[in-house]
Amino acid sequence: MCSCYGARALLTSIFHSKRLDPPSRAKLLGDVLQRARRHAEAGTCPVIVFDLDGTLIDNRPRVVAILHELGDFWRDKHPEAAARCRAATVGDIGYGVVDNLRRLGVEHSWLHDEGLSFWKQRFFTDEYQEHDVEVPGAVKFARACHETGALLVYLTGRDLPGMAIGTFKSLRDLGFPIGTMGVKLVTKPAFEIPDTQFKRDVAGELGRFGEVLAVFDNEPANCNLLLDAYPECTSVFVDTQHAPDPPNLYPSVHVIDTFEM
Ligand SMILES: [Mg+2]
Repeated sequence: MCSCYGARALLTSIFHSKRLDPPSRAKLLGDVLQRARRHAEAGTCPVIVFDLDGTLIDNRPRVVAILHELGDFWRDKHPEAAARCRAATVGDIGYGVVDNLRRLGVEHSWLHDEGLSFWKQRFFTDEYQEHDVEVPGAVKFARACHETGALLVYLTGRDLPGMAIGTFKSLRDLGFPIGTMGVKLVTKPAFEIPDTQFKRDVAGELGRFGEVLAVFDNEPANCNLLLDAYPECTSVFVDTQHAPDPPNLYPSVHVIDTFEM
């Protein structure tokens, strides 16, 4: 386990000013729990949908571990870039490998290509998920949701062939509800499918399990499309890191940066 457990995203976010303050965040999350409890008691199965990477899971330690390995790999061939990679910490990590390399001071484009390919071969695998940690408060909140009697759906852009086994293990080891009643892990059938297209394709099916009460995602596009599918649900954007050039969030989407209550 990385020593940077629980470290926060240090990069500035364009959504920063929309983030709820801690008391408002606690109230929002508390309301979700209360509504879930009420629905479960009434026998209408409440469904709460969570994305994983950047939402419940902080995968920056996974990126750091790969950069440290890249540093070892480059030690003889590119000693200066190697030293920069070996010095990487979670505070240097944002969205996009090439941007991360630039932030570390690795400037040459041929090194970016090599670094990207090195990262790709490792990041989207079962094995490297052992480096992942929770977004602060995520385990406790997910467990509280599960205890209400709600169905938890982990709806992730990770793919079934390459990452599902590691995801199951990682969720178990971090303490998230998994492998028990009231939890589903939904992965992409193939790596090549774009995440947002996948979520758009399956969004309609989330409602077949019960009433979708709340959705949590770190991509603005996904928060919007899930709200389109379930206009009555509470859509929550988790402001950690997201793909470049995001759309505007719908005004009714709430913004949080942790799950601490
Ligand atoms: Mg995500």
